[in-house]
Formats: sequence, C-alpha cells, structure tokens
Amino acid sequence: MTVSTLTIDFDALIANWRALNAKSAASVETTAVIKADGYGLGSANVAKALCQAGVRRFFVAAAEEAVPIRDAICDGAEICVFSGHGAGDTDLIRDLDLIPMLNSTAQLDRHRSALPHRGYGVQLDSGMNRLGMEPAEWAEQRQRAECGDLRLVMSHLACADEPDHPMNAQQLACFKEMTAGVTVPRALSATGGILLGSDYHFDLVRPGIGLYGGFPFEEAQPVVTVSLPVIQVRDVATGESVGYGNNWIAKRPSRIATVAAGYADGLHRVIGNGLNGASLNVYADGVACPVVGRVSMDLITVDVTDLAAEPEAVEILNAQQTVDDLADIAGTIGYEILTSLGRRYGRHYIGG
Ligand SMILES: *Cc1c(COP(=O)(O)O)cnc(C)c1O
Repeated sequence: MTVSTLTIDFDALIANWRALNAKSAASVETTAVIKADGYGLGSANVAKALCQAGVRRFFVAAAEEAVPIRDAICDGAEICVFSGHGAGDTDLIRDLDLIPMLNSTAQLDRHRSALPHRGYGVQLDSGMNRLGMEPAEWAEQRQRAECGDLRLVMSHLACADEPDHPMNAQQLACFKEMTAGVTVPRALSATGGILLGSDYHFDLVRPGIGLYGGFPFEEAQPVVTVSLPVIQVRDVATGESVGYGNNWIAKRPSRIATVAAGYADGLHRVIGNGLNGASLNVYADGVACPVVGRVSMDLITVDVTDLAAEPEAVEILNAQQTVDDLADIAGTIGYEILTSLGRRYGRHYIGG
C-alpha cells in the first residue's frame, strides 16, 4: 500500500468529550464543533461517534457543512451554523433543519422573512470584532429577536487560550451585560473558555480542538495517528546529498528510507527545515528517526541508519509527536495541522 493512513481513535475522541464535559456543571450542555470536516478528521464519522456518546448539538461554520452530517447523527440532534443565514442558505436551512446563528440585522431580516417559523440563534460580538451583533445593534434588535423562535445567544472569546489575558474578563463582562435577562440558553466558551472556569460556562459550551486532542486542552488524549508506508530504502555514501536542493549531506554511510506523504498531505514543507531548534522525526515502532532533506509534494526522506531492521511504515503523528509538536516545528497551531491533512490519506476509524 503506498497511500498514507490517518487513524482516528474514537475512544480518545469520546474520552476527550467526556473530560471536557466533566469540567462544567451537570446543567451545562457540552456540544461539539465539527466545522472544517471535523477539523479534518471526517465530520460525518466524528459526529456519529459523538452522538452515540451523548452529544445533541453540533456546530458547523457554513450551512453546506451540514449536508454530510444530518443523516449521520441521531434524530432530533441540532446543527447550528456560525455564519448565520446568508444569501442562498435558505433551502439548506429549511431542508436540513439547521439553526443559523444570526450575525446582523440583515441576517435577522432575511431569516424572519424567508423562514418565519424556523428557530435561530443570535451571535453577539463581545469584543473580538469578527462575527455577531455589537452592543448598539443588539440593543436595537433584541426585543424583536426575542419575540421570535430564539434558541440561543452566543459570543466567542478572542484570547481564551491565554488564561491571564485581560481580554477574557472584559469579554465576559460585555457578554453578561448584553445578555442580562435573556431567557434562552447563553454560550460563550470554546475549548479555551471551558478551561477558564465556571464563570465562563453559562448554559452551553462549544469545544472543538480539545475533542481532537489539541492545545489548549493539555490533558487531551491524542486522537490521530498518521502512518506513512516506506516505498524504498537505499544506501547513501558519506558526502552524497538527499532530496531537492541537496539540502542534506550524509556525514556517514547512511540508510535512507523514502516514505509516502509530503506537503500535499499537509506535512508543510517548512517542517523539514525545523523551526525554533526543533527538528522533525518519524517513529518506527516507537524509535525516533530524523527526517532529512526537504519535504517534497508526495515524499519524505528519513535516516533509518540506526534501526536494527528496515521498517515497513513510520508514524509522523502519534502520541510521541502530537499535532502540537508538529505545529511548533512548523510555526503554526494544531488547528492548522489538523485541517491541512488533506484528502489523500486512507482514513481509518478505531474504537467508539
Ligand atoms: C471554532 C469555534 C469554536 C471551537 O473552538 P475551539 O478552540 O476549537 O474549541 C467555538 N466557537 C466558535 C464561534 C468557533 O468559531
């Protein structure tokens, strides 16, 4: 087999959801954010597993993302759409029974005229200046919004993964003020906010990255393993180079394995160079082997000189080198590593 495999551990996914759920009071509903194809892991399968574990409300970014999910989840489970009700979204919202998080007066107008009896939420901007109604707009629209089928009011924190950032308390105060007296459920927190403590939990929390094993949920179990088959192994003499640009030169007689994945699979070219002094390894039965030379589109070269036997496959993402480790090496965040993984992997699901 010369296609790399991405293995998703549903037991770990569900354990992460339960662990996040346990951080808030029993009265707080823990939902799941499965936008961007479930952070790259396959939204229909992820949603189905989480539904079986008890999740009854899911969030996507765009209405189209609900298409593969609606039939995969339990009857009656809700799908909420962060981008709200945009032009052209009406059919999907009606046919898939979606709950748009309305972000503006224009969206409220659109929803109320196109689908007058369908539920909706409202997204409030508590300071991030990205999505949602600001305090003045909300003050104008609140009464009207509340007299329809309002299901949820929500906002989003800009700095929740930095617990000491003063923005957290500022947004909390703003959200409390904007939602004082509201009778429908209120929601402020994603993964980072859950970890800030109960002041931030309100009625419903919306974890994404923590479910999938990423920072800032440090206790998370790793969910993803990426295994790369070895296509070829060769001897390289001292002084010979490997890969594009002759970027790596053997300092000793070496055995080099060429494995099947590259930057087209989300293993960014920059990780081959390493950042911040960190260097990239792959793991052969748990033994670290350094990646040498540049990452190509479909191939990576690995120094396996010190292994007792030639491996059939190596792992680049596992419990030893997590999404956050790869993110550090690439100078990015775990979210971007996961959502970059791409379509070429064979996706396997275990547990659940
Ligand atoms: C992506 C997103 C989430 C989930 O955030 P994580 O940091 O992945 O937990 C929650 N709410 C909104 C509005 C989002 O855009």
